[in-house]
Amino acid sequence: MVQEKRHAEIAGAGIAGLTAATALAQAGWSVRVHERGEQLREIGAGIFMWENALRVLEAIGAYDEAIDGGERNQYWEIRDERERLLQSGWMMQGTRLYTVLRSQLHKALATAAARSGVEIVVNSRVSGATEDGTLILESGERLKADLIVGADGVGSAVRNSLGLTKRVVDLQDGCGRYLIPRIPQDAAGKSLEYWNGGRRVGVVPASEDKVYLYICCPANDVPGRLSPPDKTSWKASFPALSSYIDRLTDNGRWASFSDVTCHAWHKGKVAIIGDAAHAMSPNLGQGAGVSMQTGFVLADQLSKSVDVRTGLHLWEARQRPVVDATQKFSRLYGRVGTRWPRPLLDLRSALVWGVGKSTRLQRRINVAAHSDVT
Ligand SMILES: Cc1cc2nc3c(=O)[nH]c(=O)nc-3n(C[C@H](O)[C@H](O)[C@H](O)COP(=O)(O)OP(=O)(O)OC[C@H]3O[C@@H](n4cnc5c(N)ncnc54)[C@H](O)[C@@H]3O)c2cc1C
Repeated sequence: MVQEKRHAEIAGAGIAGLTAATALAQAGWSVRVHERGEQLREIGAGIFMWENALRVLEAIGAYDEAIDGGERNQYWEIRDERERLLQSGWMMQGTRLYTVLRSQLHKALATAAARSGVEIVVNSRVSGATEDGTLILESGERLKADLIVGADGVGSAVRNSLGLTKRVVDLQDGCGRYLIPRIPQDAAGKSLEYWNGGRRVGVVPASEDKVYLYICCPANDVPGRLSPPDKTSWKASFPALSSYIDRLTDNGRWASFSDVTCHAWHKGKVAIIGDAAHAMSPNLGQGAGVSMQTGFVLADQLSKSVDVRTGLHLWEARQRPVVDATQKFSRLYGRVGTRWPRPLLDLRSALVWGVGKSTRLQRRINVAAHSDVT
């Protein structure tokens, strides 16, 4: 007897939705993804991909295209307002870390999804879901499936319609992300992050001809948040990075950081993944990494479980400790980096330097990179 394919309907064709769709299709599901946008695209500049994300890319066959032309980060340096070295080799400990262009990562995932037989429908806005396995479109159409996945980002309609939201917190922190031209004098394979008070600047080679530059500051730093960026103000805070700041143009985009926490990541036949389930500040460079991981493990767990409801329960139990810890440490990193009292900056420097000396602590902070994905 031929067993009928199980069917999944997914809301959202971002990094999480495309990863889960590809993994489910490769595990034998028929999959349709609904994207509200007119086209598939990803906004932003560069993105860090740690070991866990890279292993998912390998497993779904998107690795080569995603990292092609990207930069392997061999060395990571954090310096304070007096340009003292606080950390080197930050959290690497034998794990791989690449920086790639966001647009390229998204395209690689979309290509892998199409290759695996996933159907993607654009201009299709989801308004919610019911736990019996129905996806509701804004048009009023109701689509039945064995599995519904809400991968529809921070404002998730799927999550909200099922009452799974516990908290969505604006962290009063954010950053501008830019791609600037790379010049021969820029260091290869070396990422820098400089801190001064509540401001941080990251300089990360992301491709042969581009450097990913991020400038972070709290919500109440009015000059820090100007767009286009006030180069004079940022150069005054980070004179050592003037050459990079001078190359900023108005091609960036400001992003505010939010934490999403949920009562549960599943209800009945519905799972929520990615930022819809666990959006976090990007301080550890893991938001997308853990989103890809939970999307991939979802397909893996469902193929091992007797039914979808049991599978979703086991999936959440398997992934939640890693993701919750990552979100917690990312929030803490942001507090230390953004809210630390100015008169006590020397103490902060000593603390960050001390954390760098503890391999165990760094491993705990970057638990996701060391976690069991595939
Ligand atoms: C400044 C910044 C830097 C970051 N840097 C990193 C990094 O270096 N490394 C890392 O791992 N992570 C990083 N992250 C986190 C990462 O960007 C996110 O965790 C990741 O993009 C989440 O992907 P997602 O697919 O869950 O959500 P989204 O990217 O929000 O995608 C959701 C998709 O669903 C669609 N959608 C929404 N609502 C509906 C609807 N009702 N119907 C249909 N479609 C809908 C949207 O159009 C979108 O395409 C960073 C985040 C920020 C803000």
